[in-house]
Amino acid sequence: MSVSHTAPHGVAAPAAVATSTRLLAGLSAMILGLVLVWGAGFASAQTLHDTAHDVRHGFGFPCH
Ligand SMILES: [Zn+2]
Repeated sequence: MSVSHTAPHGVAAPAAVATSTRLLAGLSAMILGLVLVWGAGFASAQTLHDTAHDVRHGFGFPCH
């Protein structure tokens, strides 16, 4: 019994994605997450702040 490591036609193997592309995607996700947690959390608008606060508690993020 042999196991084939070739991907079927039309399906890109994970290794085919360039490292820079994966790095960019990961970095973008991290920046978006930081903006959501801290950017919205420190916003001056009370409603926006309260919403971010509730979401933060929803995710179990340490707060107070
Ligand atoms: Zn809190």
